Amino acid sequence: MSSNKDLISGLVIRTQSGFFTVDSDQGRLVCTLRGRLKRGARRGDLAAIGDRVQVTRLDEQRGVIERVEPRQRMLARLAPLPRGEYLQVIIANLNQAVFVFACADPAPRFRMLDRFLVIAEKQGVPAAIVANKVDLVGGEQARELFQRYEAIGYPVIYSSAVQRQGLEQFEALLGKKISALTGPSGAGKSSLLNAIQPGLGLSIRRVSAATGKGQHTTVAAEMFGLPAGGYVADTPGLKALALWDVEPAEVDGYFPEIRSLVSECAFNDCTHTHEPGCAVRAEVERGTIHLERYDSYIRLRAGEE
Ligand code: GDP
Ligand code: ZN
Repeated sequence: MSSNKDLISGLVIRTQSGFFTVDSDQGRLVCTLRGRLKRGARRGDLAAIGDRVQVTRLDEQRGVIERVEPRQRMLARLAPLPRGEYLQVIIANLNQAVFVFACADPAPRFRMLDRFLVIAEKQGVPAAIVANKVDLVGGEQARELFQRYEAIGYPVIYSSAVQRQGLEQFEALLGKKISALTGPSGAGKSSLLNAIQPGLGLSIRRVSAATGKGQHTTVAAEMFGLPAGGYVADTPGLKALALWDVEPAEVDGYFPEIRSLVSECAFNDCTHTHEPGCAVRAEVERGTIHLERYDSYIRLRAGEE
């Protein structure tokens, strides 16, 4: 077959050991990177799932990535290397991070959720929360648990994969977007995905099991197409994301209910722990800032993981 020199636009949906599966309106191509892209000192992943690329087709199934478009945003981690740092891209150009927690079994670990939210805030990625297994506690208690997040502006969807509640909202949340899905195991991620697309949960689980075992950047990553046109990726790697180089005062900006207050504190270097005239502590005492959120904030500010 003659090679077509025309560039095809596509989306990287899978990476493994230097091979990139690209979805385009001309079908799916397994690609390598043009050698020229790999020249020079490598400071980070050249292509990752979610990257928009320009590809030359080699034959029916294969292609070469000629160009990677600049990333709008990403979830990434800086891996320390002997000669500097390497930016490992977990997923590029995602529209949102979706954190799935169970209302019970396992009981929600809000400290973990708060840490996830801070990672999303730091990386400039909008976050949403799914409170699954509502059937185990009832709607009222579910809201009691997660309302604190709605109050500060994060969308919360209450769902039950087994009783098929909240699935329309879940599907609408994912929509045509690229979403990174994460949460503690057992929260019901696979069940929720299976409920909107049979088989999808299994596929996701297969990839995350593989990713969990590997330590290297060559490990497979994959995102899956949704009926509505969006993509989801399971990103267990998010759990390992250190909150690298976060200055204590910077943490203020990653708590929506706190960042709006800090300018009202009496001291502009207020640590919001003991100072007189602290607007943050005043709101904690009034009960408008949730005590556990404040606790998470203080811990993260102190550099605790
Ligand atoms: P994952 O590890 O997040 O992918 O979680 P799974 O989807 O594998 O679910 C873990 C367990 O919780 C399984 O036994 C599911 O059947 C169960 N489960 C999932 N969603 C729900 C739910 O909404 N309600 C109840 N009661 N159980 C659920
Ligand atoms: Zn203060």
